[in-house]
Amino acid sequence: MLHPLRLLTCLPLLTGLLSGADADLILHNGKILTVDAKFSIVQAVAIKGGRFVAVGDDRTVLAERGSRTKVVNLRGQTVVPGLMDSHVHPLEGGLSEFREPLPVLDSHEAIRNYIREQAKKTPKGQWIIVPRTFPTRLKELRMPTREVLDVATEHPVMLDASYVVVANTLALKISGITRNTPNPPRGEIVHDEHGEPNGILKNAQSLLKGLKPAVPFTPEEKLRALEKMLSLYRASGLTCIGDGAVGEEEIALFEKLKAQGRLPIRVVMTWWNDASRPLADLKREVESKPYTTNTGDEWLKFGAYKINFDGGMTIGTAYQRHPYGPFGRQLYGKTNPDDRGQLFQPYDKLLDVLRAAHRKGWALTAHAQGGGAIDLFLDAMEALNRERPIAPSRSHMIHASFQSPEAIQRMKKLGVLGDVQAAWLYCDAPALEKVFGAQGMRYFFPLRSYIDAGVIVAGGSDHMIGWDRNRAINPYNPFHGIWVSVTRKTVRGSVVQPQERISREEALKMYTIWAAYRMFSDKARGSIERGKLADLVVIDRDYLTCPEDDITKIEPVMMVLDGKVTFQR
Ligand SMILES: [Zn+2]
Repeated sequence: MLHPLRLLTCLPLLTGLLSGADADLILHNGKILTVDAKFSIVQAVAIKGGRFVAVGDDRTVLAERGSRTKVVNLRGQTVVPGLMDSHVHPLEGGLSEFREPLPVLDSHEAIRNYIREQAKKTPKGQWIIVPRTFPTRLKELRMPTREVLDVATEHPVMLDASYVVVANTLALKISGITRNTPNPPRGEIVHDEHGEPNGILKNAQSLLKGLKPAVPFTPEEKLRALEKMLSLYRASGLTCIGDGAVGEEEIALFEKLKAQGRLPIRVVMTWWNDASRPLADLKREVESKPYTTNTGDEWLKFGAYKINFDGGMTIGTAYQRHPYGPFGRQLYGKTNPDDRGQLFQPYDKLLDVLRAAHRKGWALTAHAQGGGAIDLFLDAMEALNRERPIAPSRSHMIHASFQSPEAIQRMKKLGVLGDVQAAWLYCDAPALEKVFGAQGMRYFFPLRSYIDAGVIVAGGSDHMIGWDRNRAINPYNPFHGIWVSVTRKTVRGSVVQPQERISREEALKMYTIWAAYRMFSDKARGSIERGKLADLVVIDRDYLTCPEDDITKIEPVMMVLDGKVTFQR
């Protein structure tokens, strides 16, 4: 321990380091939204050694300038802390357009046009694959059947709706799929009213014959694709992302980028295990791997441990509290109106896996999309909370789209956070309203209810496919996500449950300090405060006062990451 007098003699040195004297960079004459506890707005910041060393009014901060200080006059422009997307899939997204750009497939006609174009350049008899598209995002709100794909009669065609595929008539024929073909284990061949296969194959893609696997990417291509995607994120205003599901491959790629000084932004990894594997293997892996929450540094570290509870609402497999009902047949090609979706594993197994990770010290998380999955995840949190408190682990639910007031109260009581994505509301709510009705959508993405209950919510996109920040699946432009959170507007212009709107200040917190909290980084960053890592974005309009619909049009004009200017327009 230091003697009190020794400490006193150290003080001038310490304040010298932390003061702005001879700062590397000063930004002044701005409107700087610090997102500190009081949501203070200041004029200037000074940065030195990658950290904010002074935050306040112009006079105080400029007094700290030295001979080598770079000084930027913001001329009134608005500054926000470096933005964070709590949940993206950068490797998948980076690879998705690495070889060629993806088409926009938002209607049956767009799908047919894509097939026509491909048919012109594909030798007869060879497969045409329609890239992934979700029925909830098609103008018709109807899962395509084989007739839609029959614009090609001399090519077998398969449309990828993830877990569900659709085949055209020729593809069914050459695969020998008829009205008498039995369903594969856990899969389904969907039939029309005459008993003929209508082309929709659920978990039954393996029945299709002659599909060639895509040429695999080399490790070097994967590294470049990942770097590219992270750079695109940075250009959109993000200084940090949470990778929503990493395995050994992604971990190695991130570590390589970091070792080579090529990591464009900060990354917090959620380690994902496939819970369909044997329980003993999963437990052994959790116990033996050196990974756990918050190991690493503020450039690259581990966040949470994740398994999947249920499927997705875009394809009708999210595990709900209530059946999907009659519109589920049209939208998802469902044959059983009582179907509630899919819980991927028995509850007891999911609980045992989470228990092993809880004992290892992990923050726990799960893909839990439907209400049924949400309730079961909270059952698991309550069970584990009796063994060791859950709240300090900052465990959270991913998506948690179909909430209820009861579940939100349980989250608050347990200290469980939400890791939620605005894009599901923007892109999918119009279709989901037809399935579940206004009543069933009352607590869909319920930001107001979370915040009023005192539940911390981290914002993000679940970006997975496509490079364009506004057109990707899902759009990862953080200002788009913020705009949706504030307005609750959808792609069709409707407003969903406006009583769940939140303020601009709250939406900004979701993409900064609350996301940082979920990543155990709130002490280091997430707000513009003295001593914190210097990440910020200068934007082209006044976030707090611009017309509401302009929020989504906000463009970054300058970014500082770790104290360094990464771009300046
Ligand atoms: Zn995801």
